[in-house]
Amino acid sequence: MAPAIETLRRVFGFDSFRGVQADVVDRVLAGRRTLAVMPTGAGKSLTYQLPAVMLEGTCVVVSPLIALMHDQLRAAEAVGIRAATLTSVDENRAETIERFRAGQLDLLYVAPERASGEGFRNLLGQAKLSLFAIDEAHCVSEWGHDFRPDYRLLRPLLDRFPDVPRLALTATADAHTRADILEQLGLPQEGLIVAGFDRPNIRYAITPRENTTRQVIDLIAETPGPGIVYAQTRAGVEKLAEKLAAETGRPVLPYHAGLDPAVRRRNQAAFVASEEMVIVATVAFGMGIDKPDVRFVAHAGLPKSIEAYYQETGRAGRDGDPAVAHLFWGADDFARARQRIGEVEPQRQPGERARLTALGALVETATCRRRILLRHFGEEPAEQCGNCDNCLSPPAAIDATVTAQKFLSAVFRTGMMFGTGYIESILLGQSSERSLTNGHETLSVFGIVDGEEAALIKPVARALLLRDALRANDHGGLEFGPEARSILKGGATVALVLPPKRERRRRGGKSG
Ligand code: ADP
Ligand code: ZN
Repeated sequence: MAPAIETLRRVFGFDSFRGVQADVVDRVLAGRRTLAVMPTGAGKSLTYQLPAVMLEGTCVVVSPLIALMHDQLRAAEAVGIRAATLTSVDENRAETIERFRAGQLDLLYVAPERASGEGFRNLLGQAKLSLFAIDEAHCVSEWGHDFRPDYRLLRPLLDRFPDVPRLALTATADAHTRADILEQLGLPQEGLIVAGFDRPNIRYAITPRENTTRQVIDLIAETPGPGIVYAQTRAGVEKLAEKLAAETGRPVLPYHAGLDPAVRRRNQAAFVASEEMVIVATVAFGMGIDKPDVRFVAHAGLPKSIEAYYQETGRAGRDGDPAVAHLFWGADDFARARQRIGEVEPQRQPGERARLTALGALVETATCRRRILLRHFGEEPAEQCGNCDNCLSPPAAIDATVTAQKFLSAVFRTGMMFGTGYIESILLGQSSERSLTNGHETLSVFGIVDGEEAALIKPVARALLLRDALRANDHGGLEFGPEARSILKGGATVALVLPPKRERRRRGGKSG
């Protein structure tokens, strides 16, 4: 390892390897095929760049995004590594090919679609190769959250050079996706190296949405320092940014793909430079941004998966100081996600569904959030982390099966066409012109809920939507989902997690 350390210090200017970097570099230098699963910011690039410098020949790096490729190229060139990109937007392709043939490149970055072409295969045969580095390797898996068919075409290329070591890299892979990557890229089981995923300085909190704007304003008021608020749509970003700017007294800027590139660059630069700015953004924001002092990441809606959640929240607290990740979710997020899953190709639906279920479990739990996150990434952490909402103020879990049965029964008896508000009014026995004309006041469920149980109706509706016992149609009307029967028949119970009393009163007081 001595020469590796020497190169690390001389070329990269770092004192020591971080985490599993040394293990990965060791394996690669020994020519063994490897899959490195390392969270964002753990220093994946180094694990192929360093061998690329040390080994004779060129390291071919497959990377899916041209923009990121150019960032990496600049970073590599900055420390004096001989590197180039070979993409459709590069005008110096002929020159790059010449440099490659002459053995003058340590790193050659290519997009997967190029890598799979016959011309490229022939080109690779014309010089010595040191390593194949496959970045964002989860793209090769249909089970992964970002499948790219072009990645499937890599295998024949790799197999044409069986003696060139392979290093696959990803930040985000559950056990199933990992196994798939190993198989798809021809890597041995023992080649899997997983870095620790825990980010102990991030405090996780997850709360049902009530008044998103109000909730985010409260969070900002409690959390000084720069922060990112993720909204789901461009329009959502604009609206939220405006309100936060008006009400928080903090500098607030929007960021989404619909903005002029110059504006986007300006807003990003302003955020990176600021010690107090809040940026409201779509998830496009944050890739490749190196801002260590982000103090909070808020989600105003459900992320796409646990992987996405981990990656997005991981932009908080990179400096190791305390930071907060707060997710605000609504049952409609799950309904929409299910609808989207219905629209993807059939073979990808099981993976998508499993991802949503995992996310549901994280959101719904009364137990430690960090434990659920880390177990998702294959770790076996302590029962309690002491730094998430559920550990810090344990919520009360109650059995709400009877209320759930009443709710489902009311949905059924009113013909499965009304929304949560109307069903609630029927259960509470609130007479209205609508309930009168519909003849719903004579139903046995009319007024069947009162007293303390009334407070359970909305959380119950949310829980039923989340676990697919209820589905909302296009007009917001509730229908039975596949899980409804077993709850009605008493085979399945519905446990509700209620936020601790103190917090409930505070929130209730603020929203009126
Ligand atoms: P990833 O690709 O895993 O998200 P990067 O490769 O971009 O992470 O590295 C994240 C940051 O960590 C970069 O700023 C990089 O220079 C730095 N870094 C990587 N390895 C080390 C190390 N051994 N010591 C100190 N800093 C490192
Ligand atoms: Zn915890």
